[in-house]
Amino acid sequence: MDVAERLHAIGGALAAEARACNRDPDAILILAVTKFQPAEAIREAVAAGVADIGENYVQEARAKFAALGATAARRHFIGHVQSSKAKAIVATFDIVQSVDRVKAAAGLAAAAHAAGKRLPVLLQVNISPTERYGCSPAEAPKLADAVRALPSLRLEGVMAIGPMTADRDALRRAFQLAADTNAAIGGSVLSIGMSGDWREAVRAGSTMIRLGTALFGPRPSAPMSKSGSNVIAR
Ligand SMILES: *Cc1c(COP(=O)(O)O)cnc(C)c1O
Repeated sequence: MDVAERLHAIGGALAAEARACNRDPDAILILAVTKFQPAEAIREAVAAGVADIGENYVQEARAKFAALGATAARRHFIGHVQSSKAKAIVATFDIVQSVDRVKAAAGLAAAAHAAGKRLPVLLQVNISPTERYGCSPAEAPKLADAVRALPSLRLEGVMAIGPMTADRDALRRAFQLAADTNAAIGGSVLSIGMSGDWREAVRAGSTMIRLGTALFGPRPSAPMSKSGSNVIAR
């Protein structure tokens, strides 16, 4: 199967899952996660109708976006925000899903202000013992207030990564916690669900599932250079 065929199949399964829990399938976006995939994968996804692309590493993303030229797709940053990379992140992406502390927010806000932009952001909330980054659900309201005090940022909601577990109930509980946290901060975007757990995420109210391997197959283990060969440096 190619990317378009996989997207079509997932779109059908997503619509069925949404209807099964009385949700509007059109209220759930598919974000294509293209980390470590070649620029060609982005091109294929966009040609197949994907409107949102996610990348984790700034340098890798910049190289691939430059190779692609203009696309209509919205570019989401979903990796860890290092304050020292804030300017490059703001220059490269349309939205940042991974704001997990005040320092990251402040760095992005300064860079967005300097660029004359208002940057949409999500708070990354930690709902999993296996996940390293993200603010705790309890801290989220305070972080949300800090982000809302920065006029060059626009807080839209919450992103979270589900626990790496085969326990579907634990997954459901974790996603519910993300949904409750999003409600607590008054968010409208809930970015939860990946290739292995998007069904549980949709049941919990996800408005955006982030799919890598389900769309593109297994990931190469290091970023791709423009020529398609693996590069080690990120
Ligand atoms: C890699 C990644 C994904 C996609 O993971 P798959 O399991 O391949 O679908 C989604 N979200 C984030 C934050 C990621 O880093």
